[in-house]
Amino acid sequence: MVVLVTGANGQLGQSLQFIAAEYPQIDFRFYNSQELDITQKKGIETIFNTIKPEFCINAAAYTAVDKAESEPEKAYEINVTGAGNLAEVCKEIGAKLIHISTDFIFDGNQKTPYTEDDRTNPKSVYGQTKLDGEKAIQSIFERYFIIRTSWVYSQFGNNFMKSMLRLSKERETLSIVNDQIGTPTNAVDLAHVLMKIISNTVQNPERKTYGIYNFSNEGQCSWFDFAKKIFQINNIKIDLKPIPSSDYPTPAERPKYSVLDKNKIKRVFGVEVKNWEESLKII
Ligand code: NDP
Repeated sequence: MVVLVTGANGQLGQSLQFIAAEYPQIDFRFYNSQELDITQKKGIETIFNTIKPEFCINAAAYTAVDKAESEPEKAYEINVTGAGNLAEVCKEIGAKLIHISTDFIFDGNQKTPYTEDDRTNPKSVYGQTKLDGEKAIQSIFERYFIIRTSWVYSQFGNNFMKSMLRLSKERETLSIVNDQIGTPTNAVDLAHVLMKIISNTVQNPERKTYGIYNFSNEGQCSWFDFAKKIFQINNIKIDLKPIPSSDYPTPAERPKYSVLDKNKIKRVFGVEVKNWEESLKII
């Protein structure tokens, strides 16, 4: 079974490459942004018609949350037009699309974990383009899995954990936002969940499981708590100060609360979700 992965050099793309050997039944085809640009429909068609994937995992995205505020057209082109292009080509050749979305489609005003049916209301250009990307896919066909995730980190690419480890070498004191609550997600855990969705879909073709699913690790914390745990696990001594987000203004507004409810993905696919602190330990 051929599974095509876009955005192969991003942190999810690299996490999928990292676990690929554990799934010998899958013939992975990884494409980075130079080899397959998701904004170019003709190029996508040529590749898809040649390799005929059964699934496409779209790990490609415009992910620069703050920069998106000053280049919304570019973010839209990749996160909306690009996602739509993949859906159209998947529809044409009969492939299924696994697309990744974000907790930033929510406004953060809720006080309990967001389910897949809760009201979306993005506060940033990035969040809006990710939501519009979901809608573009849904308007094209039904054979999609949209996986909404949050606070993704890994040993690959750029992420909060790697920024903290780098900054700890440069500074003695760090001030970290303590009033945004969410859940970190180990990208390798996410990669395994995508494999579970694929195998379940292949083994149970009669089940109607397409749709939107939340996945992050279990539990919740602030960025400050996350940083504290990263330093604790790595035995790094540093003076950490909790600060309100008003003391750390960013171009893009982030939700104050974006914990995701994972009951649907657990129920439908039997996914077991590790606590975020457990997952961080094995990185
Ligand atoms: P990364 O930024 O690490 O990777 C994104 C990849 O997309 C990069 O390799 C980039 O390539 C590639 N890309 C950009 N534009 C194009 C294009 N036009 N065609 C093909 N590839 C392109 O992202 P993550 O792995 O962290 O994110 C994976 C998914 O998870 C995304 O959909 C993201 O929105 C979502 N997500 C991420 C979160 C996080 O905290 N990181 C949180 C919630 C959701 P290049 O480097 O060459 O530009």
